Amino acid sequence: MIQPNGTSETHTAGTAKCLPTVTPGETFWQTQKDELHDHQSTEQLPEHSDIVIIGAGYAGVGTAYHLVKDHPDAKKSITILEARGACSGATGRNGGHCRPDFYGHIPTYIDRAGTEAAAEIAEFEIANLKAIKKIVEQEKIDCDFTLARSYDVWCNEEVAKKAKAVYDRMTTGDFPHMDDVVFYTGERAEGMCGVKGAKACASFTTGTMWPYKFIMHLVRLILAAGVNLQTHTPATSVEADPQGGYIVTTPRGKTHAGKVVYANNAYVSGVLPQYRKNIIPCKGICCRITVPEGTTAPLLNDSYINRTEDNVLSYLIPRSDGSIVVGGAAAVFRSTEDQWYDNVDDSILIEVAKDYYNEYMQETYNGWEKSGAKVDKIWSGVMGYSYDSNPHIGTVPGEQDQFIVAGFNGHGMPVIWLASKELAKMIIDDVKFEETKMPRLFQTTQFRIDRALNGKVEDGDILGSGKFAATRP
Ligand SMILES: Cc1cc2nc3c(=O)[nH]c(=O)nc-3n(C[C@H](O)[C@H](O)[C@H](O)COP(=O)(O)OP(=O)(O)OC[C@H]3O[C@@H](n4cnc5c(N)ncnc54)[C@H](O)[C@@H]3O)c2cc1C
Repeated sequence: MIQPNGTSETHTAGTAKCLPTVTPGETFWQTQKDELHDHQSTEQLPEHSDIVIIGAGYAGVGTAYHLVKDHPDAKKSITILEARGACSGATGRNGGHCRPDFYGHIPTYIDRAGTEAAAEIAEFEIANLKAIKKIVEQEKIDCDFTLARSYDVWCNEEVAKKAKAVYDRMTTGDFPHMDDVVFYTGERAEGMCGVKGAKACASFTTGTMWPYKFIMHLVRLILAAGVNLQTHTPATSVEADPQGGYIVTTPRGKTHAGKVVYANNAYVSGVLPQYRKNIIPCKGICCRITVPEGTTAPLLNDSYINRTEDNVLSYLIPRSDGSIVVGGAAAVFRSTEDQWYDNVDDSILIEVAKDYYNEYMQETYNGWEKSGAKVDKIWSGVMGYSYDSNPHIGTVPGEQDQFIVAGFNGHGMPVIWLASKELAKMIIDDVKFEETKMPRLFQTTQFRIDRALNGKVEDGDILGSGKFAATRP
């Protein structure tokens, strides 16, 4: 087995070894690598850059894009350091679902922080989807983007009733976006969504895409605008330079930065150890299912979040080539913590869940029984789970000119585009977080850092009850 960072040492959150594995396992999305995948703009690292971004995933590339496109007059020199190939982290290995959360987690945030704070998150995610559609059109990005409907499906009677209660609560609250949600119960549910035994389902507007193609197109644009990309160059430490700015160390030498942006998601604590209890690398699985040539299966137009009778949750998107990308199944591997929690090894699958999707389409969808659908490719990926389920964005508390945009909890697609746009304003114009359009709960604060550092793992959201994660300042 290939060990993370090419070593046999442990690599848990908060240690210098919290780095991506050298060689990730294959994923469908990267079957054909982009010619810029292993790009190094210059043979040597630049001596100095105004801004060094750590991580070339959605957050790192998105931030660089907004820095150069929204603030061209600032003329900042920008270097991105990427530990592996470009977009080889979670963004290049995910489910391709760009699905705002209209009401699923929102009640939790209402209870924790009030209606206004919760509504900010729902509205921000919907705004992200619209902004992504716009940028895909504007930059003519070939990434299979669709604006579709998404079905939330519940097959367990009891849980379906709870979901209906949440829907009722949300529609009577002050949430204009709920106008887009349609909820079905009883016999109509299965007929509407096509999922066997559905007791309830809801549909609303969502997006799907090929994330690797989306990001690699942006990479091409930012390189043309002068950004220096250094793949296969992990940042191993960041230290304040007594002369001003920061010294970033890599195995290829040191580079000096005026400002540093930590966009390395699950691995952020490898260079920012104060986040070791806040953002934990957690593995997930995803696969591509195909139907053999000559066989047909009912067309799926919509994307899905399916919860089967035993409450195993899967996210699913249909693709225009007739294949399906589906992942999740966390409930299947949750109890085997060593296989997913505080684990960065995406060179191997999650053993206990690797067969879960073998007959998924046949067992889940009406009309697919004789389709012969089978898993064509399956892979794992590493997400940055946070103690209180919210990302950490903004100025690193107690530090000057250091910014973080990380901890997306397996839900970064409808968040990162505008988060990186707003962060770019903070970096260039010294705009305060409170003056940006970001949801207040996304701000990284000393309170959040300390709450996780001093709290018990079992009181946080990742492995526990969420009791302590819910405490307010
Ligand atoms: C299996 C799976 C399925 C998912 N499905 C979905 C989905 O359908 N919808 C959704 O919204 N979200 C999904 N997600 C989550 C989503 O992919 C992430 O929220 C999002 O991609 C995070 O983007 P990022 O740029 O912050 O992180 P990443 O894409 O992980 O980028 C971080 C980058 O930093 C690099 N790096 C790390 N440490 C260092 C270092 N020290 N120096 C230099 N570089 C470093 C990494 O190699 C990586 O390229 C899924 C994730 C996984 C793993």
